[in-house]
Amino acid sequence: MSQNNGILIVGASQAGVQLASSLRELGYAAPVTIVGAERHAPYQRPPLSKGFLQGLVTAETLAYRTRDFYEKHNIDLVLSERIVSIDKGPDGAGVATAASGRRFAFDRLALTTGARPRKLQIDGAELEGVLYLRDADDAEDLKTRLERARNVVVVGGGFVGLEAAASARKLGKTVSVLEAAPRLIGRAVGEATSEFFLGAHRARGIDVTLDARIVRFTGDAQGRVAGVELEGGCTVPADVVLVGIGVVPRTELAEALGLACGNGIVVDEHSLASDGTTVVAGDCANLPNPLPREGAPERLRLESVNNAVEQARNAAVTITGTRVAYRMVPWFWSDQGDLKLQMAGLSAGHDQVVVRGTVSEEKFSVIYYRAGRVIAVDCINNPVDFMAVKTLLAKGLNVPAERAGDSGVPLKKLMADLEPAS
Ligand SMILES: Cc1cc2nc3c(=O)[nH]c(=O)nc-3n(C[C@H](O)[C@H](O)[C@H](O)COP(=O)(O)OP(=O)(O)OC[C@H]3O[C@@H](n4cnc5c(N)ncnc54)[C@H](O)[C@@H]3O)c2cc1C
Repeated sequence: MSQNNGILIVGASQAGVQLASSLRELGYAAPVTIVGAERHAPYQRPPLSKGFLQGLVTAETLAYRTRDFYEKHNIDLVLSERIVSIDKGPDGAGVATAASGRRFAFDRLALTTGARPRKLQIDGAELEGVLYLRDADDAEDLKTRLERARNVVVVGGGFVGLEAAASARKLGKTVSVLEAAPRLIGRAVGEATSEFFLGAHRARGIDVTLDARIVRFTGDAQGRVAGVELEGGCTVPADVVLVGIGVVPRTELAEALGLACGNGIVVDEHSLASDGTTVVAGDCANLPNPLPREGAPERLRLESVNNAVEQARNAAVTITGTRVAYRMVPWFWSDQGDLKLQMAGLSAGHDQVVVRGTVSEEKFSVIYYRAGRVIAVDCINNPVDFMAVKTLLAKGLNVPAERAGDSGVPLKKLMADLEPAS
C-alpha cells in the first residue's frame, strides 16, 4: 500500500549517497531520504588513514557532495539519527524508528549500513589511547593524539593499519606494526606483494613483527596505554595503539527483519536481500562474486569504494525497474606513504605468478594466473599495468605468462592482438 513515502536509505556514506544520486539520475521521482548515524555530512573514508593523518587534507575537503547537491536533487539527508528498529510488510513498505524516537515511513527500504571495526578483546583494551579507525571522529582523535605521541604501535598489518603506520612514520614517530599472521596484508595479496611491503616498510624505519602474539595492553597510573605485551614477556612501548584487525558488517537491522545474513547481508546479483524487496549495497553486503570463475569464492563481501559505488548503482537500477546482473572487476587501492598499491581482480586460487618490472625500483606488478589465464594483478607504483589488467579482465582477454614478464613491452600492446576468453 504505497503512500508515496519513497525510499528510505539507512546509512549515509559511500553506498547510501551513490544510491540516492543514481536513483535521481535514473529518473526516480518519489521521495528519497538518507538517514545516517554520524553527525558529519557524508565524506570519503580513504583519506582518513592517509592524507588526513598526515595533515595534507582537512576534514572539510572530504565531503562527497556539497549541501546544495542534496537540495538540488531533492534528497532529504538526515544526520545524527541512528535507526534502531524497522517494521516492514511483505510489500516492502514500513516504518523505521531512530534512537531519538523519530520515525521514517517508507515504501522501499535500502540498507547501506557498512561495517564497524573488529574489537580486540584483551586485558587493557579499555585503556585510554587504544584506538580504532573507521570514521572521521576516530581519525580526528588519532590525529590529535599522534601530535603528542612518540611511540606508536599498530596492531594489524592490513591496509588500514599499514596506511596509518606509514602516515605516523612520515610524521616522525617511532612506529611498530604487530601482525599475528606470518605475512602482511595476507587476506588480500599474494606472497610476493606481502614480502615487498615488509621490506619496504622496514626500510622506511617501521619495525614490523610477524607472527606476533599479543597478551595484553599495559597502562600507566592514569589509565593511559603505555605498552603492548607480547608472548614471551617483551613489551613494546606505546603512547598510542591503533588496532586495525578488520571490520564486522553491520547486519543487526537486517537480522531483526529476518533477512538472510552470514558475513554480511545476503543479496542476489540484483542487490536484493532475501525478502525480495530490500536493496543492500556496500561493505555490509554479502554478494555473489561479480567476476565469477572456477576456483574463486562463489560469494564474498567486498570492502572497497569501487564496490560500494557500483553495487549502489546496481541497486538503483533494480529499484527503477530493470534487472541487470551485477558484474564488474573488483579493484582496490591502498596508499602507504609513498607506495601506491592498486589491485584488480581476485587472486584466490591462482596457480602461477609473474612479476613484471623491477622490485628493487619499487615499480612493478605481480600478475596472478590460473590455468594459464590472468585472474588478478597487484601493481606497485605502476598505474599503467593496473589499467591494462583491469581492462583485460573486463574484456575477458589474456596475456600468456611467458610474455607478460617482459616489462619492455606495454601490457596494452600485448593484449591488443589477443583473443577474447573462450
Ligand atoms: C581508514 C579507511 C581507509 C580506507 N581506504 C580505502 C582505500 O584506500 N580504498 C578503498 O577502496 N576503500 C578504502 N576504505 C574502505 C571504504 O571506505 C569502504 O569500503 C566504504 O566506505 C564503504 O562504504 P559503505 O557506504 O558501504 O559503508 P560505510 O562507509 O561504513 O558507511 C556506513 C554508514 O552507515 C551508518 N549506519 C550504520 N548503521 C546505521 C543505523 N542503524 N542508522 C543510521 N546510520 C547507520 C554508519 O554510521 C556509516 O556512516 C577505507 C576505509 C577506512 C575506514
